[in-house]
Amino acid sequence: MKAIEQDYLEKKFIEYAKLNTRSEMESTNVPSTSRQIVLLKKLIQELKSLSVKEVSYSEEDAYVVGRIPSNVAQEVAPIGFVAHVDTADFNAEKIKPQVYRNYNGEDINLGHGYTLSRKEFPSLNKVLGQTLITTSGDTLLGADDKAGITGLLGMVKYLKENPDFKHGEIWVAFGPDEEIGKGAARFNIERFPVEFAYTLDNGNPGDITYETFNAASARIKIKGTVVHPGEAYGLMVNATLIANEFINQLPSDFVPEKSKDYQGFILVLSNESNVDHAQIDLIIRSFDTEEFKAKKQLVKNLVNTLNNKYGEDRVSLEMHDQYHSPGDEIKKHPYVVNLAKHAYEKLGLPINYVPFRGGTDGDFITEKGIPTPNLFNGGANFHGRYEYVTVENMALLAKTLLTIANLHVDLDKKRDNTPLRRK
Ligand SMILES: [Zn+2]
Repeated sequence: MKAIEQDYLEKKFIEYAKLNTRSEMESTNVPSTSRQIVLLKKLIQELKSLSVKEVSYSEEDAYVVGRIPSNVAQEVAPIGFVAHVDTADFNAEKIKPQVYRNYNGEDINLGHGYTLSRKEFPSLNKVLGQTLITTSGDTLLGADDKAGITGLLGMVKYLKENPDFKHGEIWVAFGPDEEIGKGAARFNIERFPVEFAYTLDNGNPGDITYETFNAASARIKIKGTVVHPGEAYGLMVNATLIANEFINQLPSDFVPEKSKDYQGFILVLSNESNVDHAQIDLIIRSFDTEEFKAKKQLVKNLVNTLNNKYGEDRVSLEMHDQYHSPGDEIKKHPYVVNLAKHAYEKLGLPINYVPFRGGTDGDFITEKGIPTPNLFNGGANFHGRYEYVTVENMALLAKTLLTIANLHVDLDKKRDNTPLRRK
């Protein structure tokens, strides 16, 4: 493989990073903010100028998709790559990316009184000598996920300029509203006819994520009976005390502050109560589907027990699933992860299976029938002023995607379906 052209990556990343594409949870529009469309339209132009076929935008899901035809004679299952255009809930106005060539490891004065140092952020040790791009201290950078977008464009440009580089059919997709968990949920995957795909969202070179939390939220409402305290004997039912009884029966070691790696939790978000009524909001998170079901059942059982004790419909429960880990589904298609692993090995990247303790676009896309693990975008310190990325890491991402596409041509027929292991 020839070298990836880094000037292009730097220029594109900075152009896109400067655009405010912050999404907005409260909005009901598609996409949630019209400023995201500005970047989506630019990406349509860029894909077209890179000779991508069937580039289209749909107002229904606000996704830009495009197709790169296969250049090999044999049949190869089509694969896809996905990145998102929106940025997280942090100031994104007037982003001024700062470029440090040949980063020498010294503390960087970002501006606005903030310093980026190796002491505080040891991950910087891995990018010494590279072209580092940071914020100016008052905004986020948006490497999440504009680094993913840029790396993907790097792949597309390489394929245009190197028509002899072998690959099957590839689809690219750029979507909105990942940060608010709505974009991929709306994605009409009939527009994205691939057998499997990868998101390029966060993470370090070498990371592969195919398991995330299963997530549910629950609201418990409790009705009490208010009576004058002096005459309450045998009559008063105190909703606050029932709320306490409920919370005290939740497992005390299944909480975020005692949970890491592949461990889950139940988090009581709030408990507002008086004698008359109480409302408890909680969330349930678990990597393991059986455990997830069991914890939801536990909450139901506690509600039933309290109703049996205090009388029917004192306690009501509303519970819904928010998203599901793609893990069970992807484990049925281990080739998807093993292909990425083989590409990493070929590039000499360290392979890290990382459990993602949150939701991703891949959760929704996998649930719709396209197994979609996450790779990386090469940035760090996402969602805030300390965010950074290097041009070299974006080039490495482009190289990784090219390697996946190229290896897939030969490996597709003799798929490595070795079962997936967490370590
Ligand atoms: Zn992201």
